[in-house]
Amino acid sequence: MTEQATGVSHGGSSPARRDGSAPTKVGIMGGTFDPVHHGHLVAASEVAHLFGLDEVVFVPTGQPWQKDLDKVTPSEDRYLMTVIATAENPQFRVDRIEIDRSGPTYTLDTLRQMRATYGPEVDLYFITGADALGAILSWHNVDELFDLAHFVGCNRPGHHLSDTGLPEGKVSLVEVPALAISSSECRERVRKGEPIWYLVPDGIVRYINKTGLYLES
Ligand code: NAP
Repeated sequence: MTEQATGVSHGGSSPARRDGSAPTKVGIMGGTFDPVHHGHLVAASEVAHLFGLDEVVFVPTGQPWQKDLDKVTPSEDRYLMTVIATAENPQFRVDRIEIDRSGPTYTLDTLRQMRATYGPEVDLYFITGADALGAILSWHNVDELFDLAHFVGCNRPGHHLSDTGLPEGKVSLVEVPALAISSSECRERVRKGEPIWYLVPDGIVRYINKTGLYLES
């Protein structure tokens, strides 16, 4: 089976699409995905529609240095769940770029690698939660980040981005009602023995049941 057929790419990702043509607008969906849920999938689909993206590349975070790493599920489990969740959508694929890179995960490194892979002609859109985007000004080399990609923050209903210092035209916010689902709530429900059917794809329920993820806090 080829990489394109599985929708998975390993490290140096191939920018070729299923029909062999090169994409011109690519979404990079960054998140910890612990676990990936239907809110993420709806958000990616909605942003792809709104911005006319050719594809959305899900990039599970390798080592989210700003979090207590003992509490974050091993990256290989988060990666596999993301592959399972996106497998049926030909517009979605998953990249191991952050999983395979050693050290703390910085979006700047990811976007530099993606830019090198896709070349200067392709428009990159970095998609993530608006909460995560709110901290964007504390990231390294903000000006270079904005040169590398347009940023799209996905909002839960009623959420407002508190930081008004974001540069004009570089950031878009999209309200996604399905983001009422949250990864932390899914983890908590599993820990308490409550169902997560329909909050996450069926394959994710089965993966979590099979591996025993999230049973302990
Ligand atoms: P987070 O703090 O766990 O998430 C913040 C909020 O955004 C949560 O409500 C989360 O909901 C939501 N969210 C996260 N990813 C999302 C997505 N792709 N689509 C929609 N909602 C999303 O954030 P995180 O997951 O650790 O980080 C998000 C991205 O920002 C990652 O790519 C990460 O590497 C990057 N980041 C980079 C730096 C840096 O370079 N210095 C620093 C921080 C974050 P759920 O919990 O339900 O997902």
